[in-house]
Amino acid sequence: MRIAFIGLGNMGGPMAANLAAKGFAVKGFDIVAANLDKVAEQGVVAARSAVSAVKDAEVVITMVPAGQHVLDLYRAILLPAPRGALFIDCSTIDVASAREAHAMAKGAGMQSLDAPVSGGTAGAAAATLTFMAGGDAEAFERGNPVLAAMGKRIVHCGGPGAGQAAKICNNMILGISMIAVSEAFVLAEKLGLEAQALYDVASAASGQCWSLTTYCPVPGVGPASPADNGYKPGFAAALMLKDLALAQQAAEASGAATPLGAHAEQLYREFNTAGGGEKDFSAIIRHLAAAPRS
Ligand code: NAD
Repeated sequence: MRIAFIGLGNMGGPMAANLAAKGFAVKGFDIVAANLDKVAEQGVVAARSAVSAVKDAEVVITMVPAGQHVLDLYRAILLPAPRGALFIDCSTIDVASAREAHAMAKGAGMQSLDAPVSGGTAGAAAATLTFMAGGDAEAFERGNPVLAAMGKRIVHCGGPGAGQAAKICNNMILGISMIAVSEAFVLAEKLGLEAQALYDVASAASGQCWSLTTYCPVPGVGPASPADNGYKPGFAAALMLKDLALAQQAAEASGAATPLGAHAEQLYREFNTAGGGEKDFSAIIRHLAAAPRS
């Protein structure tokens, strides 16, 4: 199967390399030449432009920063691509742009999926990503073997935009729960309660959640996590802020009340402004520990 892969950054590079390693004929393009050179060493054929990458593609995958990049690309590559090709956007973008991208693809006679991922750069390298897909059943069936070559779990979430909706709703839970767990450890310390003691109780009680038991923000407590590695990401706080902002954008557009989501976005924004964007998102605990009580 001939695949065009556009956007070969931290995620797209290893994803495209995995497709090539598994026998797909992959033509790649990125506006940064160095990214293209890197994947060219891993079996991806370097194209001169996005348009030339898609010319004979059966499947076109995009992995770029934001909705505007996807829509600009679709404007440029839908026409030159073979009619009937499957367009899969794996970027994390706003739900409205994802739905617009689907509509543009349909208008050009293409099939389409939004298929954002979780699992980070480690999952991209190891081909263990989770894909959350939105689009019709036929497009999902067709895209499944391609996504399976880059991930280990592929969930069909519903129609156009449903993958993006699942991604931002999940990450809103994650952002809020990490703040909740962090606040509890900050309070425990003030009360003279050992972090390990709180962990022993809460991890087996009603406070149990992934942010506590899999990804504990306190060094030396629970299984190994970025906290034990100087808060090196992992999942960077800047990306958590991006996802929380997308959730707020969607909440505003749809009229959903998400007061804790809004507060989580504000706290991650403060943390990013204070220079924490490159740290793992669990480092929010240090921001909370240093904050004066207002
Ligand atoms: P990145 O910035 O490393 O890569 C994006 C790439 O897209 C860059 O190499 C850039 O040059 C390229 N690009 C932008 N516009 C282009 C265009 N018009 N034509 C060709 N190439 C273009 O970002 P990333 O970390 O790889 O993330 C990509 C997407 O995946 C984002 O939407 C991000 O939110 C999402 N995501 C990232 C992670 C993560 O841990 N990094 C995890 C899950 C989801």
